Amino acid sequence: MLTAETLYNKLKNIKTACPGCDYSMSRCEEFVPLINKINDLKKEKNAVILVHSYVSPEIIYGIADYVGDSYGLSKDIKNSNADLIIFVAVKFMGETAKILNPEKEVLIPNELNGCSLADSVTAQDIVSLKKQYPDHAFVCYINTTAEVKAECDVCVTSSNVYNIIENYPSDKIYFLPDRLMGLNIIEEMKRRRVNKDIKLWTGTCYVHEAFKPEAINSFKLQYKNLKVLAHPECSPDVLHMSDFAGSTSQLLNYMKTASDSNNFLVLTECGIVSRIQVEMPQKKIIDLCNMCKYMKSNTLENVLRVLQNPSEKDKIKISEDIQKMALVCVEAMFKYSG
Ligand code: SF4
Repeated sequence: MLTAETLYNKLKNIKTACPGCDYSMSRCEEFVPLINKINDLKKEKNAVILVHSYVSPEIIYGIADYVGDSYGLSKDIKNSNADLIIFVAVKFMGETAKILNPEKEVLIPNELNGCSLADSVTAQDIVSLKKQYPDHAFVCYINTTAEVKAECDVCVTSSNVYNIIENYPSDKIYFLPDRLMGLNIIEEMKRRRVNKDIKLWTGTCYVHEAFKPEAINSFKLQYKNLKVLAHPECSPDVLHMSDFAGSTSQLLNYMKTASDSNNFLVLTECGIVSRIQVEMPQKKIIDLCNMCKYMKSNTLENVLRVLQNPSEKDKIKISEDIQKMALVCVEAMFKYSG
C-alpha cells in the first residue's frame, strides 16, 4: 500500500508553473486512498496501466505499470499478458494499443478527447492526397487516428522518425500531420546527405509550437552554462538554438548523463520537467512550462471510474478492416526502425 508520505517524498520537488503541479502533504493524503483502490482493482481485473510522461505526476508515480513515450509504450503493450489495458494518455495512443492487441479491451480515462496533431488530418484527406501524389510513400507520425494509419504505409514516432525516413525504400515521401517535425526531417535528411522529395501536411502540436526563439534567447542571456533541449515537434528555429533534440525518452536519457553544474531549459510538455525534478532532483531546471490540456485531462478519479464501470465512450473501438490495415502500418514501423 502506498502511503501519503512516500508519495509526498516523491512529488515534493516538483516546481513547475503548470496548474495543479504543486504537491503538499495534504494533497497527497487526498490522492492515496484513490491510488490504493485503483491498484487493488488493477490486480483483481488483471489490468495493466500505461501512462504517458505528459500525464499528471500523481498518476505516473501512483498507479503506472509502464511510463514512457509513444514508441516505448507501444513496445511494452506488445508483450503484455494483461486482459485489460488502461491507456492514460490521449485517444490515438489508446487506438495504437488496440491495433496491436485487437482481442483485448482498451480503455482511456481521458476527459478532453483530442490532440491538435491527430485532429488535423482525416483518412479522407489521405485518400485525396494519394490521388494527387500516387508515387509518394505515405509516412504518418504516431499522433494520428487508426483510420489515418490504415491509409498510410508506415508510422513513425519522434524516437525513430529520422531513421525510418532514411531507411524507407522510397525516394518520394509524404509526411503527415506535423509540419514542424516535417521541416526538421527535411533538414536532418540534408545533414545525412539523404536525397528524398518530402512533402508535408499542415498540422502542428499547439504545445510545442508555442516555444519561441525570443524566449530562448532571453534565457541564454540570463543563465550561464545554459543547455537547451528540445523535442522535434518544435520549430526548426527552436531546434537550431538547442544543444540536443530528441523524443521525450531521449531527452530524459540525455539528462541522466548531463553535468549537474549546467542549467537546463527543456522544451517539451512540462510533464518531462516534472519527471526530471522527481527522478533527478539535483539537476537545475529552468521553469518554462507549456502544458497539454488533453494529456492533463486524465485524472485518478477517471481511472477509477473506467476500472469500475466503463462507459461506451471510454472503450476504444476499431473495425476489423481498419485494425488490420493500421497494423500493417504500425508493424512497418517496428521493421524499419531497425
Ligand atoms: S502534447 Fe501536442 S501532440 Fe502531444 S497530445 Fe498534446 S496536443 Fe497532441
